[in-house]
Amino acid sequence: MWPLDPPSRTGEETYAICISLVRQFGEEKRKTKLINAIEKVKESSQKFRDSTFSGNLHDLQSSDFQIPEVDGKDAVRWLYVNGMVRKGGPCRIIYDELMAKPADERCPLCGHGIVRQLDHVMPKSKFPTLCVDPLNLVPACGDCNTVKGDYGATCAEDTLLHPYVDRIDSERWLQARVIHEEIVRLEFFTLPPAGWDDLLTSRVHHHFELLKLGSLYAVQANRTLANIRQILTAQFRAGGETMVRDYLASEAHTRLAVQRNGWEGVTYHALASDEAFVRGAFLD
Ligand SMILES: [Zn+2]
Repeated sequence: MWPLDPPSRTGEETYAICISLVRQFGEEKRKTKLINAIEKVKESSQKFRDSTFSGNLHDLQSSDFQIPEVDGKDAVRWLYVNGMVRKGGPCRIIYDELMAKPADERCPLCGHGIVRQLDHVMPKSKFPTLCVDPLNLVPACGDCNTVKGDYGATCAEDTLLHPYVDRIDSERWLQARVIHEEIVRLEFFTLPPAGWDDLLTSRVHHHFELLKLGSLYAVQANRTLANIRQILTAQFRAGGETMVRDYLASEAHTRLAVQRNGWEGVTYHALASDEAFVRGAFLD
């Protein structure tokens, strides 16, 4: 949703580094099995890359992404948990590089939370050959990672946005409307700009729904509304609706310049554009 520069290392390179410190264990000979799987990993990584860029992730079958003779849970533990997440692990430096990608630590999936972990685009439980592939690892906040869980798309329209690949932030697609009830509140929704095709429109809407971004933004926006009520009241008394509108528009402008689809800028823009609101609907 919020774009990041794609990682430079391939899945095959990262896999080779991750297994570099794996030891042989008795009859398991785990290192031999992992070394023997390098060609399989290379093939998987290429297939995943091709499908990512062609929009066909929903066609990938879990059975094609297993490490031969290695249980999937063991592969994830040896490669991802011990090789990449563990401090001192051979791929920890790559983990840290990926975690540092978002400017100001903002989660690229929601544009709000703080990056806390790496999310596997294709779940590691079902696609172990991709468990340390950088293209499959997206820094995310805990909420997005938890809500997404082991989600896998079953059709192109339900494929979540990929921050390394999808570039949609040059246009405004997030909108909010003011709801005038006993307490004024905001409601968020996606509105595709002219020129988007049906597939992109569906994907953005699905991403927004699956990650529950509407309620996330509404909670934040309604807190903001409560926090600015006092200054809006003072401005209304000093300069009427014009002063209120100008203030809100200015706040929207400066925020939207930083994040075109950030909930903060969209909130101020929605408030500035609502006639009933600027005429005093916020007054107690
Ligand atoms: Zn998030």
